[in-house]
Amino acid sequence: MMNRKYFIASVLGFIALCLVPVFTHNPYYIHLVETIMIYAILLFGLDIVVGYTGQVSLGHAGLFGIGAYTAGVLFLKVGAPFWVILPASIVVTGIFGAILALPALRVSGPYLAMVTMAFGTIIQILINEMTFLTEGPMGLKIPKPTVAGYKFNEESFYWVVCVMLALSLLVVHRVLRSQLGRAFEALRGSPVASDCMGVSVYRYKVYAFVISAGFAGLAGCLYAYSEQYISPNTYNNELTVMFLLAIIMGGRKTRLGAMLGATIIVLLPKLLDDLEAFRMVASSLAVLMLVGAVIGIARRRTTWQTMFVPVVGTAALTAFSFWLDNITDWRLSIFGLMILFVVYYLQDGIVGFARSLMGKTANSDNVIDLSAGQNQQGALVRATENGDGDLLVAKQVLMQFGGLKAINQVDLKIKRGTIHGLIGPNGSGKSTMMNVLTGIYVPTAGDIAFAGRSVVGRTSSDIALSGIARTFQNVQLFGEMTALQNVQVGLHHTFKSNFLDVALHTPRYSKEELAATERGMSLLHFVGLAELANEEARNLPYGKQRLLEIARALALDPQLLLLDEPAAGLTAPDIKELVQIIRKIRDHGITVILIEHHMDVVMSICDTVSVLDFGQKIAEGQPAEVQANEKVIEAYLGGTAT
Ligand code: ADP
Ligand code: MG
Repeated sequence: MMNRKYFIASVLGFIALCLVPVFTHNPYYIHLVETIMIYAILLFGLDIVVGYTGQVSLGHAGLFGIGAYTAGVLFLKVGAPFWVILPASIVVTGIFGAILALPALRVSGPYLAMVTMAFGTIIQILINEMTFLTEGPMGLKIPKPTVAGYKFNEESFYWVVCVMLALSLLVVHRVLRSQLGRAFEALRGSPVASDCMGVSVYRYKVYAFVISAGFAGLAGCLYAYSEQYISPNTYNNELTVMFLLAIIMGGRKTRLGAMLGATIIVLLPKLLDDLEAFRMVASSLAVLMLVGAVIGIARRRTTWQTMFVPVVGTAALTAFSFWLDNITDWRLSIFGLMILFVVYYLQDGIVGFARSLMGKTANSDNVIDLSAGQNQQGALVRATENGDGDLLVAKQVLMQFGGLKAINQVDLKIKRGTIHGLIGPNGSGKSTMMNVLTGIYVPTAGDIAFAGRSVVGRTSSDIALSGIARTFQNVQLFGEMTALQNVQVGLHHTFKSNFLDVALHTPRYSKEELAATERGMSLLHFVGLAELANEEARNLPYGKQRLLEIARALALDPQLLLLDEPAAGLTAPDIKELVQIIRKIRDHGITVILIEHHMDVVMSICDTVSVLDFGQKIAEGQPAEVQANEKVIEAYLGGTAT
């Protein structure tokens, strides 16, 4: 369901790219555009890791090198044909991508940047030292490929790269719009929530790196054939930083941004060698910025205060370019200034900036038709399992943080089909109890059985998939994703299709995606958010965000739903609506554990209430009984309750 205008523009752009060798026979220009396309393929992949999962990778020049050297070595040592070398480069680099993913599972932020950079350096050293394979610093020579007796030349190989670019674009587009792409984006939005929706952070980080590496491998292989000579020096840290900059400058989470970024990093060094060209580009940039600012201000998308520095800055750069008479001494300073400018003023990159002026959100190509999923009957599928008995039994649970016993020898029995209240003053251990039940913490001692099976020691995603869904005290939505996409992350477990299904759009995948859209819409309808399906979660009012979290949790098709202070921060009418929804959930046979401070809510809907104080269970019973209990009254009056 790609936006039609966008699709037509992409096709036209692609045709224009293909025609380059028809208009110019100058091999220099053809090779330049070819390089841009090859970098763009790599950047599509890098954007999966950086833009979608939110991990930093400075190892991609290394992966690029592995792709190139796989091609070079297979050609020289084995004499393998092109159609073997191409997929082999992708697969071999993909395997190295899995290795690069390992540090990302343990560290993040600057540490991850350092470790991935070390990975790149090690690859470079290995290429240098393994002379028996790679000829070391001497480098390798590879002629243009021959397929079925036809030897490609500079021009016809250009079209091979065009085709590979188009295929990469198609595959990356499909992957990112599928359940895989949503899983990647969810990791960035909230790793904890991903795990608790059954989307294993561990697994999808590795997937993202592997897929990303596959693209780097393809790019590396094409690069080897394009240059016809490869040597270890190319795949250095400077290149890796350039790749990252290209993503930031172009704009993350957009393919157009990746292509722009590739163009910038290929052309910029050349531009900074040529004063005339630099003057021309600086003036066009200044004019563009001015026009953009005028349009943006007229459409009330931006203010003159925010546009002042960019407009004046580009104008100043133009003035400076005409004042200069020699550019070589200033290259690095200009480069540095541009980077600073982008980091300060174009945080969403050029594409993000242009979109904000046009008043479009990043998600506007993810919009779905709201008429889908109108059959809201059976929004909650789970059959009423009216089996009596206990769904969850916790025995002598102890959760210790250092010397603090946040939960101290608590027993808990949750009866099937009931709403079980969990109350107590702030800091009494309620949220910790939920974190223990959902595998975020492993209890220091004690046992927890859910539907007859122990929960202790299992991962959060495994527990979630076995039927425990939850919401969070501090809302944990996937902010940059639409409301519908948030719910669809909860529906991840309904997908059986793999990478190939997604890339090829097999009937299996299409069926699952359609079902997930319909079911997602009916769940949104269930909590009254159907009209807001295409809204980004971070833009929803707080009350709606809490309801969206409930819809997402229900998407897991849980037997047990844990709600951590769902009414906190809600207005009175919103609370009424919430109570109705919780009742409906229970009527569908889903057992609920409800942590809540609003006593009227607890008293009106809970079947049983347990009271915690300083980590210990001090009372349990029917709401009215508990409310009259001396110990409870004392805990609330003497405690820190508000
Ligand atoms: P409640 O949800 O009932 O308000 P919590 O379960 O959030 O209370 O917290 C119970 C106690 O455990 C508090 O004293 C809190 O500071 C402590 N605690 C919770 N999580 C951690 C943690 N990860 N590390 C250390 N202490 C924690
Ligand atoms: Mg809490």
